[in-house]
Amino acid sequence: MGAFPPISFAPRNVKLKRAVDFSKASRLYFHAAIYKCYDDFNRTNGTVVTLQNGTQMNMAKAIILAIFCDHPAAIKCCLCGSACPQCFTSKRDFATPPVGGTMLMRTPGNVAVKKQVSALMYGLMCVLIYVWMYVLIYVIKYVLMCVLMNS
Ligand SMILES: [Zn+2]
Repeated sequence: MGAFPPISFAPRNVKLKRAVDFSKASRLYFHAAIYKCYDDFNRTNGTVVTLQNGTQMNMAKAIILAIFCDHPAAIKCCLCGSACPQCFTSKRDFATPPVGGTMLMRTPGNVAVKKQVSALMYGLMCVLIYVWMYVLIYVIKYVLMCVLMNS
């Protein structure tokens, strides 16, 4: 198991070549350090580990079963290309997408559409509120004028 903290740069420096290179170099360094732990352990005769329930278990080898992280980062971390970043199954061995209507796949395309729709809805709400306030002020002005004229 291994994890490393994100390296944050000032927003205006994020795209600088030095920053990108540093990020890549540090990621490689951290990966090598994590892998070295596995490699070092697997060169020994293993060890006896006490599990949470108190059971003693002989661990002869340590293997990486899966890497879990967010989608774009997962591909960068495991260098799997188009294969699955969790189980390394190659793309040609993927199952077919679920039959229509059973499950909505998240793709960059439909996520972008969803974001666009919510931005449009926000714009529409602003316009509606503006129009509503304008009408409300007009009505209040009219009512006040009628009340003041009659008194
Ligand atoms: Zn997979």
